Amino acid sequence: MTSNPIPVHTWFPRLWAEIAPIGRDPGTGGYLRYGFTEPVRELERWFRGVAEADGAHTVVPDGNGNLIAWYGPPPEQGDAVLLGSHFDSVPHGGGYDGPLGIVSALLAVRALRAEGREFRRPVGVVAFAEEEGSRFGVPCLGSRLLTGALDPDRAAALTDRDGVTLAEAMGGRPAGARPELLDGIGAFVELHVEQGRALVDLGAPVGVASGIWPHGRWRLDFTGEANHAGTTRMADRRDPMLTYAFTVLAANKEARLRGAHATIGRVEVEPNATNAIPARVRGWLDARAADAGTLEALVEGVRAKAADRATRDGTTLTVTRESLSPLVEFDGGLVKAFREVLAEGVPVLPTAAGHDAGILAEHVPTAMLFVRNPTGVSHSPAEAAGDDDCAEGVRRLADLLAHLAAG
Ligand SMILES: [Zn+2]
Repeated sequence: MTSNPIPVHTWFPRLWAEIAPIGRDPGTGGYLRYGFTEPVRELERWFRGVAEADGAHTVVPDGNGNLIAWYGPPPEQGDAVLLGSHFDSVPHGGGYDGPLGIVSALLAVRALRAEGREFRRPVGVVAFAEEEGSRFGVPCLGSRLLTGALDPDRAAALTDRDGVTLAEAMGGRPAGARPELLDGIGAFVELHVEQGRALVDLGAPVGVASGIWPHGRWRLDFTGEANHAGTTRMADRRDPMLTYAFTVLAANKEARLRGAHATIGRVEVEPNATNAIPARVRGWLDARAADAGTLEALVEGVRAKAADRATRDGTTLTVTRESLSPLVEFDGGLVKAFREVLAEGVPVLPTAAGHDAGILAEHVPTAMLFVRNPTGVSHSPAEAAGDDDCAEGVRRLADLLAHLAAG
């Protein structure tokens, strides 16, 4: 299909321009698309309209905030091919992380239909809910609910920063695991903007993912003693900000020593006053590594360094694991087939970013495609992808869909 006359290169920028303004902050140029908020609802209405215009016979919510457009034979036939990604963003994130996978999936279906190809397997395009966890704190919320990895009652009680529960945001308790739906899916493919510069360095517009590094989130509570910034002698202080600051540096060093990734990107300070030594500092450690042993050693290394420093500062430290996602290896058969179909030396890359594909992979043969990101930056307005590369991603995805599902 790479040389076919289907005008994907004109379809892509046109469709992309339709969603570009939705949820964009005019100040930062970043996106504020959080799960179950109006910008995502608007994107979902747009999704429904495009899918129906392109021949979807049903566009159906799964009861967990995820929306699936179905084409070809009814999904009850089983062995469906599912494509898609998520609409939501991190605060002031880029526009490509998530929506590129949904728009590319819609256009891959459109491309095959324009060629007059019939689907012999049911084909679904999914928009997953709250993948980033930006509103309710649980990443891949929709796919975790769908697969049963997250208990629906626990999820219903999750609150956002304004105290709104997920049940209130969704208008009811989530449905939870849908085994009959999952059992009917024979393959899931998520196309995603690359969150790094590997494809830039390789000079390749598109790559295939081999797997996802194990990763997790840990909450670090540093407790000291609030006191007056002017009258408390330096020697008498129990300042948790010092322990926190040391820990940020230690996390960076421990990660570098292991070829891993560690980030403390969120912090809360009490009382958060200019003229007060803080009583408490709370930071969140995001840690990722190539294997589970390295990840465990990294987190333990950070914890030990921080605990040692806390002793010297007269503060206390507690470490609470909030989430842990194990190593994901994508389906070997799909990855091999994709390399054959895509040919031309398409590179195979691991990723350190979590995705709905990582959640689905425990239940369904799953693979991912990456599209080159010239800045290598993601979760920021600087995230980018060229129209030509995006169109190439659509063509490659259409090639794979043709291989899997078209007669
Ligand atoms: Zn994403």
